[in-house]
Amino acid sequence: MIPYTRVYAAVNLDVVEHNMKAMVANLTEGTGIMGVVKADGYGHGAVWVAGAIDPYVRGYAVATAEEAFLLRRHGISKPILILGVTHESCIRQLIEQEIRPTVFQRKQALALSRTAVDMGKIVRIHLALDTGMSRIGMRACPESADLAEEIASMPGICVEGLFTHFARADETDKTSARQQLRAYLDFVKLLEERGVKILVRHISNSAGLMEMREADCDLVRAGISIYGLYPSDEVDRDRVALRPAMELKSRLTYVKTIGAGVRVSYGGTFVADRPMIVATVPIGYGDGYPRSLSGKGRVLIRGKSAPILGRVCMDQMMVDVTDIRGAAEDDEVTLIGRDGTEEITVEELARLGGGFHYEIICGIGKRVPRVYIRDGKVVGKKDYFDDVCRDFSVGQSQGAELGIQ
Ligand SMILES: *Cc1c(COP(=O)(O)O)cnc(C)c1O
Repeated sequence: MIPYTRVYAAVNLDVVEHNMKAMVANLTEGTGIMGVVKADGYGHGAVWVAGAIDPYVRGYAVATAEEAFLLRRHGISKPILILGVTHESCIRQLIEQEIRPTVFQRKQALALSRTAVDMGKIVRIHLALDTGMSRIGMRACPESADLAEEIASMPGICVEGLFTHFARADETDKTSARQQLRAYLDFVKLLEERGVKILVRHISNSAGLMEMREADCDLVRAGISIYGLYPSDEVDRDRVALRPAMELKSRLTYVKTIGAGVRVSYGGTFVADRPMIVATVPIGYGDGYPRSLSGKGRVLIRGKSAPILGRVCMDQMMVDVTDIRGAAEDDEVTLIGRDGTEEITVEELARLGGGFHYEIICGIGKRVPRVYIRDGKVVGKKDYFDDVCRDFSVGQSQGAELGIQ
């Protein structure tokens, strides 16, 4: 049924939908969701995820112009906001495709205004307000309110939204997040005093939308929660019941017995202290599987845990199957996800490897095909090996033999 035998990431679109419904049920009535599908949908595939969540979102957020263009090219027609800074060279294309840029500097607004007027169009923008991230955005102060007023009066520009971003909403102590919320609301008041009406106010990320009803406003920006992960261990999991949408699977390529004293993998860091049965799994850090899990992580085979032996290589790694009866070549290997009653979560990998769960899913490499599942059936795939490099040519060397001229 799955068209891949080495390794694949299965993305369950029914689970994605389940996560969306769980979030909607928790939100204040009237608050909409903006689906954050940056970094190729946190490694899940932005296009397929966007398609799956389309009925549940007012629009989408991405990090870059290219990510926005990709969605448009695949027929995604709802509003798209670029959360990062967009280079001037993208403005024309962005206005043509009605993509919303983030703005917080006069020069950005002037360039947008000039091009919009030239094209005879109106560009809808969102202002970014810095209330504590110190990343991008105008500082929350009266001078910035003056600038916002000036931008709102520029020809060809419609200030559709104003957003800020929480730095610490995923912590139990919400003091800092509440301060950011207060700074945001005060700034909205400054704008109102200047006659600038903000149609779409949005603040919350996944952590905020789970735990801070007071920050709901017009929209919340859901990211990691779409994919079924919680922003941090401090977030209360009972409020919104999320389920991880991605599983990472492989198959054993080789099973053998080694004697006591035999070393395993680069550097010989693991030494067998008894005869062992060792299995080779054809996945490695070249697939985005963290090398930091060397000697620490585990996989599931036949519903049981198999610890990683020694270093994770680029394309392969070895696991201990001594205690897994009947473990054999071609057995399914679960690196992330469920097998029987056992489950390996992305959070577990992050903890064991000293990494960050967001980073692990974003880092699943392009060599790993994504397979999309609905109603238990494969409904699509995304495979880097299907890409064609245009304008690429080398000489006619097909069929040449190594070492022979
Ligand atoms: C990435 C991002 C989000 C989503 O954050 P999650 O923690 O994944 O929900 C929301 N807003 C901005 C500005 C972001 O950069």
